[in-house]
Amino acid sequence: MVKILLVEDNEMNRDMLKRRLFRKGYEVFIAVDGAEGVALARSTMPDLILMDMSLPVMDGWEATRQIKADPKTKAIPVIALTAHAMAGDREKCLAAGCNDYDTKPVEFPRLLEKIESCLTQKEAWGNTKSHAEFLQTKTHQKSVWDTRTPPS
Ligand code: MN
Repeated sequence: MVKILLVEDNEMNRDMLKRRLFRKGYEVFIAVDGAEGVALARSTMPDLILMDMSLPVMDGWEATRQIKADPKTKAIPVIALTAHAMAGDREKCLAAGCNDYDTKPVEFPRLLEKIESCLTQKEAWGNTKSHAEFLQTKTHQKSVWDTRTPPS
């Protein structure tokens, strides 16, 4: 079963997303703040993380940076969810190490497409390669993978 870690502090969003992902056949783990998100990423090793950016204790940007700085968890794709639809916000998410970005309120079919695309790309590079290695093999492909900043 494909595991998704959902990091979201808003109970209504959390329950809605959890239910809809479960119906699509995903196993869903829940974290309610950024620190718990980082801890659960390490302990559950999900296939993908949905990360709300506005979180208590530790925000989604810092949580993503920590997940991407840890060799154990850095290959896990992170999709940022944010209510901010400001110009530059997508770039900010990608710079923090997020693999993709979607805006709230969530349009589930669109989010599902991004989830499936991230899982497919993760499959393609394999768990052993770093993002930097993966990006080197994908330099001619026009996708979000080419525009994000590789982890230093
Ligand atoms: Mn929030």
